Amino acid sequence: MKRIFFTFCALITASLLMFTGCSKKKADGNFKITATFYPLYIMLLNITENAQDVSVQMLAPADTGCLHDYSITTKDMKLITKSDIIIANGAGMEDFIDKALELSKGSIITAAEGYPLIEDNAHIWVSPKGAAFEVNRIAEGLAEADAKNADVYRENARIYIEKINSLSEKMEKELSPFAGTAIITFHEAFPYFASNFGLNLTAVIEREPGTEPTQKELSDLMKLIRIKKAENQKIALFAEPQYSSSAAQIIAKETGLKVYQLDPCVTGKLEKDAYLNAMEHNLQTLKTALSD
Ligand SMILES: [Zn+2]
Repeated sequence: MKRIFFTFCALITASLLMFTGCSKKKADGNFKITATFYPLYIMLLNITENAQDVSVQMLAPADTGCLHDYSITTKDMKLITKSDIIIANGAGMEDFIDKALELSKGSIITAAEGYPLIEDNAHIWVSPKGAAFEVNRIAEGLAEADAKNADVYRENARIYIEKINSLSEKMEKELSPFAGTAIITFHEAFPYFASNFGLNLTAVIEREPGTEPTQKELSDLMKLIRIKKAENQKIALFAEPQYSSSAAQIIAKETGLKVYQLDPCVTGKLEKDAYLNAMEHNLQTLKTALSD
């Protein structure tokens, strides 16, 4: 089924390309930068501020969340062919459009390229260190592709990375008393984040959003929590604002743990500081949850 779908995508994209003649010259002269999804779009808002003749948009709607179960639409494929450059996360996040991206023949910047992966996990931006890496990579790629604005991209990235790093240092400092604490998160979005702050990501409720845990997985999780509690060890349970927390609520009810929310920054306000604000909020949540 998947193969048939990809073949379909490839045919549609190929015909769209014939239509547009692969032309990169746009009538309005704007350099069109398209992020595949929300966290990259927020990076672009920062990197492209005051750049000239640039427009920034995103492919998946802002409320999509992670792209794990996203299906490409004809509208998306048109947007890909109209874009001068696509900003993708990579590391498997955009598998659903690989074929379309290949066929677009436009430039692609893969933000995660070169970052040391943890078990092929794609959620690099969830750690401030990973986000800073991606911002730098995107800015360098844009500077190469759009020389006119190269200095603007690089300077904006420098300022934004400085803000991310300073928040990261503050988080490391304030979370250091909780180093090694076990956390359970909703889906596998937090290995880089946990590694950044010395937390012990012990388990996830749903391997991917939308894949409900089986009865056995639920009871294994509850067993793990009970063992930790019996050993008097701290363990904290987190849901995510983007997804239903019903499984987390069941675990909480059965084990007496409270459910907190950690934000992987995959949806949110369309403003420059959205990522920084979400991380600051995560810091406050963690401090409460881990000392509870
Ligand atoms: Zn995800």
